[in-house]
Amino acid sequence: MKSSPTIVERSPGQDQGQGQGQGQDQPGELPLRTLDRFREKLLQQQDLLERTMLTAVKEGRESSADDLQDAADHAVQSYQKELLFLQGTTGHLQLTQVRSALDRLEDGTFGECLQCGNRIREKRLEAVPWTPYCIACQEKIETGQIEGPVRAA
Ligand SMILES: [Zn+2]
Repeated sequence: MKSSPTIVERSPGQDQGQGQGQGQDQPGELPLRTLDRFREKLLQQQDLLERTMLTAVKEGRESSADDLQDAADHAVQSYQKELLFLQGTTGHLQLTQVRSALDRLEDGTFGECLQCGNRIREKRLEAVPWTPYCIACQEKIETGQIEGPVRAA
C-alpha cells in the first residue's frame, strides 16, 4: 500500500456510467449473452447425446441379431457391443448433467458450484458447460476428499 486511495485521474465518470447503466452487468453474474451461448451449447450437446444413445441401443440390437450366423465375427461383435454399451452409460451420465445444467440456467444458478457455491470459472464452463462443480471441488471429488454427486435440492 504505497499510495492513499485517490481517485483515478483519467476518467472517474466512466466506471459509474458503466456500472449503473446496465443493471445486469454486476460482478458475479454471467452476462446474458454468455448464458445464451452456454444454453445453445448445452442444447446441442443434449441433442447429440440423445441421438448417440439411440444409435448405440439400436446398433447393439442389430449386431446381436446378425452375429448368430458368423462365429468368427463373434469376438469383434461383442467387443463392439461393449463399446456401445460404454458409450450408452457415459452418455447417460453426461446427459443427466447436461439436463441439470439446463435446469440451473432456468433457475439462474448456472455457473455456481453445487458443492461450495463459488462461481465456476468461465473458461471451465466454456470447456465443459454441464459441469456442476468448480475445479477445486472437482479435484476433491476425484481424489475422494469429498462426497461425489451431491443432491443440492
Ligand atoms: Zn466448488
